[in-house]
Amino acid sequence: MGRYTGPVCRLCRREGTNLFLKGARCYSNKCAIVRRDGVPGMHQFRRGKASEYAIRLREKQKVKRYYGIFERQFRKYYAEANRKTGNTGDALMSLLERRLDNVVARLQFAASRPQSRQFIRHGHILVNGKKVDIPSYLVRPGDQISIKNREHSRNLALENQQADFLPPVPDWLDRISTDPPEARVSRLPSVQDVTLPVTPQLIVELLSR
Ligand code: SF4
Repeated sequence: MGRYTGPVCRLCRREGTNLFLKGARCYSNKCAIVRRDGVPGMHQFRRGKASEYAIRLREKQKVKRYYGIFERQFRKYYAEANRKTGNTGDALMSLLERRLDNVVARLQFAASRPQSRQFIRHGHILVNGKKVDIPSYLVRPGDQISIKNREHSRNLALENQQADFLPPVPDWLDRISTDPPEARVSRLPSVQDVTLPVTPQLIVELLSR
């Protein structure tokens, strides 16, 4: 699957919230959301009141951009969430939260989701002792996430774990050790474990039309 390679701060400014796509900079006052007002583009002050459709569309775009996925893949997650019993919006967020690139970032092995994705693609991440280089891999309870036993890989993760700006590790992930960096998935994440301010029901209303 492809990935977005354009300027990322404008994505946050468009969605009006921090999507944390740049690591340390996102937690400093250099963040574009702090420094610049309004959505990007020439006509930012001409926009009128958002329609019901626009509100739902922005909610979907925000989630896609936060997790770094494109429309086609997002639709697949939605279809899978729709097949599950229970609330579709909650199931959708749980699926997205289980992506390996998200898990690696939430474990503080990487400073952001894009960096986490790069770690995975470059073969630094092991799941149950085997290399997994697919960022969209969905973790399951009991999975053990670790870093390849190479000095370079370990140093990258250790450096990030020592950074004090990253949010704490959520309680659905158990950190087994810091050096070597190792953790276990203790349970499936729920919608309450998602730190992005989002209303999944609005996405369901948009996609179920
Ligand atoms: Fe840029 Fe990070 Fe701030 Fe988003 S949160 S605007 S990616 S610095």
